[in-house]
Amino acid sequence: MNLKLSLIKLLCLAIINVSLFSGCTSNNGNERPTVLATTSILGDILRNILPEQITVDQLMGPGVDPHLYKASQGDVQSLSRADVIVYNGLHLEGKMSEILERLSRTKEVIAFADPLPASLLRSLDSGGVVDPHIWFDLELSVRCVEQLTADLSKIFPDRGSVITESGKAYIQKLHETHKWCVSQINQLPADDRILITSHDAFGYFGDAYDFRVRGLQGISTLSESGLKDVTNMVNFIIDHKVKAVFVENSVPQKALRSVIEGCRRKGHEVNIGGELFSDALGEERTPEGTYVGMIRYNIGTIINALQ
Ligand SMILES: [Zn+2]
Repeated sequence: MNLKLSLIKLLCLAIINVSLFSGCTSNNGNERPTVLATTSILGDILRNILPEQITVDQLMGPGVDPHLYKASQGDVQSLSRADVIVYNGLHLEGKMSEILERLSRTKEVIAFADPLPASLLRSLDSGGVVDPHIWFDLELSVRCVEQLTADLSKIFPDRGSVITESGKAYIQKLHETHKWCVSQINQLPADDRILITSHDAFGYFGDAYDFRVRGLQGISTLSESGLKDVTNMVNFIIDHKVKAVFVENSVPQKALRSVIEGCRRKGHEVNIGGELFSDALGEERTPEGTYVGMIRYNIGTIINALQ
């Protein structure tokens, strides 16, 4: 009897120790709790904020289009096992809304864009559809990272101070990157600041950094561009003497190539200015494989092609 009680006591102590060490009771049975991001951009942001004792995972790899992404069976398991889920929101992950809504009833599910008031969002129609590509305005990202840091510090209280400190340092880095973007873009004459891309991901970028922005496809890659869109774009490029257009890492290039061909037929030479990283990061361990690196890479590519 005494032996049995001692064993139970020992077992209890062991469980308490594991909980203290890991800082949070995990749903997935591992010592380390897991925070699961939907996109590669959010995965990188989380890795900058969270200490190594918390595992950060992501569903979508480099170059994956979030508008079209459907959760696989394996993803559903990862989502169910994760302790916390972070997604962008504003219908970026349009095909995952249902599962995210269902999971939010049983676990912490955080929408990154949630802290932004409607007045700061780009409204696209009278029906309440807004542009989800908020990460292209670094000042908007700062607001979202502030709230994300506060939420995660509460969810993991014994790592709270570390998370708060890392969040502050990362926010400082975002502020510095924003200033750098402004100083770089100031080198470009105002008339040359026209950004033409495959899909309309750069609206917030245009507002924040004073660019006129046109996307061939709509705000989501779900809507394909038609012949009329191509003709309108060709005319716009010729009217504004645009030198270069930009392909994107997460969107097929075919439609934009027909615009280039259309310009050529009308005697206007327009080039591909480079590949921009829009809705997904570049490959891991490359400069474009981080959120800040991707922003810097895009700015460099745009300025190089348009100046
Ligand atoms: Zn997009």
